[in-house]
Amino acid sequence: MKPMGPIPAWFAQGQALKVGGQTIPALIAEAGDTPLFAYDMAAIVARIAAFRAAMPPQVALHYAIKANPYAPLAAAMVPLVDGIDVASAGEMGRAIAAGMAAEHISFAGPGKRERELEEAIRLGVTLNLESEGEAERALAIGGRIGIRPKLAVRVNPDFEIRGSGMRMAGGAKPFGVDQARAADLVRRIIAAGADWRGFHIFAGSQALDAAAIAETQAATVRLAGALAAQAGASPPLVNLGGGFGIPYFPGDAPLDVAVVGATLTETLAARAPALRETRFAIELGRWLVGEAGVYLTRVVDRKTSHGEVFLVVDGGMHHQLAASGNFGTVVKRNYPVAVAHRLNDPADETVSVVGCLCTPIDRLADKVALPRAEVGDVIALFLAGAYGATASPQAFLGHPPAREILVGQPDIG
Ligand SMILES: *Cc1c(COP(=O)(O)O)cnc(C)c1O
Repeated sequence: MKPMGPIPAWFAQGQALKVGGQTIPALIAEAGDTPLFAYDMAAIVARIAAFRAAMPPQVALHYAIKANPYAPLAAAMVPLVDGIDVASAGEMGRAIAAGMAAEHISFAGPGKRERELEEAIRLGVTLNLESEGEAERALAIGGRIGIRPKLAVRVNPDFEIRGSGMRMAGGAKPFGVDQARAADLVRRIIAAGADWRGFHIFAGSQALDAAAIAETQAATVRLAGALAAQAGASPPLVNLGGGFGIPYFPGDAPLDVAVVGATLTETLAARAPALRETRFAIELGRWLVGEAGVYLTRVVDRKTSHGEVFLVVDGGMHHQLAASGNFGTVVKRNYPVAVAHRLNDPADETVSVVGCLCTPIDRLADKVALPRAEVGDVIALFLAGAYGATASPQAFLGHPPAREILVGQPDIG
């Protein structure tokens, strides 16, 4: 038997799983079938409230839409956050369709194509520049179409979050301009007449250690102050990145955002004079939505092989790649999983939950202890709200895409 991570507290209530107060059979009936991602908006609203309560008032909250671009969820996010960060023209279109004003959208990501740059400039979206070459292309497009581009400089800092789950900064990286060259690029952008929006400094993802995040934010604010002094210009906005993680695995403890907020309050109080008028933002994906989602998949076959029990389900890694351990993790560990109508029952047996794809990597849970499940029962895989449907190879093996549903939606007229 292998351990699994914790089930989010608001789901671990009662014998039969509910999402947003609705039973699983009712949700599946409403959506039409399994496999199904169900997202609980009330859990997301609670997360946003926790962020607001913990953070100093001059810190804005941006949603990194790549974590979950499901249209009803994105639309429900718009009135609750201060901006949306996108990483492609496709996501930019989704953010606009969700109702976010272009002036509150920023577009980061390497390899922006000419037509993506032009679309962003025409819409008035801020481009977080990933290189000097991209800056020149954006300036040239702005000149050609007669629109002053909104440009921020993404900085590749010399540091990254301690214990960060995914390495995205520090050393040679495809993301951002090395910090040693960032001030020069700011001067170039301003001299060319662009609307310089500030800095974007993202130093890592999936961190659970509040002290490590607080340390990184302090280093980020110091770096922004130093770069502003070097460039001789004050940034209107400094995007401090994000990196707030969620507990996926046994032994993981939730991030203490109160500690992050308290330390950030001190950090901002001590900020450099060049940042006096600056606004700050934190961009989050998985911390906002990851724990609010459940992937529901039905047992199609129950079989044994060499004494081991396999529950073969109608879903798989083509929908929920991350649970199979093939998205950004080095060692496969088990996400929390349950038999949806038997949450409180003791485990009867050790089983592996495998998907319906013809590949040995399609294993959603490896030798976990569960109450006995039969063909037709629904298995719930938790922590499916971020990087699930959107980050999985849905076309692989020709199965239909997963269904999605948003529940517990606040009445936003
Ligand atoms: C992916 C990404 C995020 C969101 O990361 P999470 O771990 O989901 O919070 C934020 N900012 C940038 C630049 C990213 O690339």
